[in-house]
Amino acid sequence: MREFDEELKGLKEKGLFRKPVYRGPAIRSGISHGDAKISINGHVFINFSSNNYLGLSGHPRILKACAGALRLYGLGSGASRLLSGSCIPHKKLEERIARFKNTEAALVFNTGYTANTGIIQALSKPEGTVFSDELNHASIVDGIKLSKAKIKIYRHRDVNHLESLLKKSSPSKGRSAGQKFIITDTVFSMDGDIAPLKDIVFLSRKFNAMLMIDDAHGTGVLGKTGRGGLEHFGINAGEIIQMGTLSKAFGCFGGFVAGSGSLVSFLINRARSFIYSTSLPPALAEACIRAVDIVDSGSPGLRKRLWKNRQRLYQGIRNLGYDTLDSETPIIPVFVGGTKKALKIGSYLYRKKIFAPAIRPPTVPEGKCRIRFSVTAAHTDEDIDSVLESLKKYRV
Ligand code: PMP
Repeated sequence: MREFDEELKGLKEKGLFRKPVYRGPAIRSGISHGDAKISINGHVFINFSSNNYLGLSGHPRILKACAGALRLYGLGSGASRLLSGSCIPHKKLEERIARFKNTEAALVFNTGYTANTGIIQALSKPEGTVFSDELNHASIVDGIKLSKAKIKIYRHRDVNHLESLLKKSSPSKGRSAGQKFIITDTVFSMDGDIAPLKDIVFLSRKFNAMLMIDDAHGTGVLGKTGRGGLEHFGINAGEIIQMGTLSKAFGCFGGFVAGSGSLVSFLINRARSFIYSTSLPPALAEACIRAVDIVDSGSPGLRKRLWKNRQRLYQGIRNLGYDTLDSETPIIPVFVGGTKKALKIGSYLYRKKIFAPAIRPPTVPEGKCRIRFSVTAAHTDEDIDSVLESLKKYRV
């Protein structure tokens, strides 16, 4: 179609055109699932663009659990959860997540994206107001659009701005009605900084507002036992709605919300992305249970390695004089600015067999392009030193 071609041409001219890069099977390229390596066109790349933080995506116990359940249940679940698509592994997974997050209950969605759109659409009313950090993930932004609630965007991590917006908005008629609803990422996906959760929790109580945190990048990564953002700050879950994903530190696939039993019952009845979509394959749910077990009981070593790697890469990049914004986590941006400059450094790294593509609008605001390194427990010291060596030799 001509309209499509014209728009695509415009994207190409602005350096904003995107296309997927296809990975080949790890095993045939002589790399193992546990490595932070990927195969592209028969070449092995060090992968710095994955959120598989603990390197669990190829863990033998998880693969075995998945294969066992595949034999028992087959692949597709065949229907949505409220028809015949609910299987025992779904229930067991939800109980396991609730135990991990210290909440009464949990509900599994097919992805983190549909968890956010479903939860926010269900909990906010058109007469209510959602207060959202300006750098919240796109799935939160889309959930708010679906809800038809009024949106107040507060400056990134700026609690004074949030407070002034809360003050200006009319008094809340109660939490359950969702009159005031604060939503924040715990770890911001493109900047790697952490939301000031203690202050935000304080404001939510002061203004009688509901609070939801997107702990997609915090779960398994933050806190002594990997329970995420609340554990990191020593905050009790209370009535805080905790969203997360099974696709990052757990190395699997799917999304979830953890909270009270009545929240979960409400979402089962009201979250459209839960109600109207075929459920997660039960074998995947079984794999996720094993992943939560591993993160819960067996991951201190992995998390230690993750943070050690993060420190090595972060310090190395800083020593080279690059701007890493306010990164505090395994997500380490290298700020570049313009699109063309970001593409140039991205392709340089690609030629060096390092996969860390340029991040451009609309993922980040105009003029704020960057390379986003995301480091995992699976990287070796050599992997990290190799990227540092390449960055050192890079000439703008
Ligand atoms: N929230 C945040 C902060 C994310 O970074 C992502 C994934 N990029 C999601 C939600 C969506 O999760 P999923 O990939 O499981 O759909």
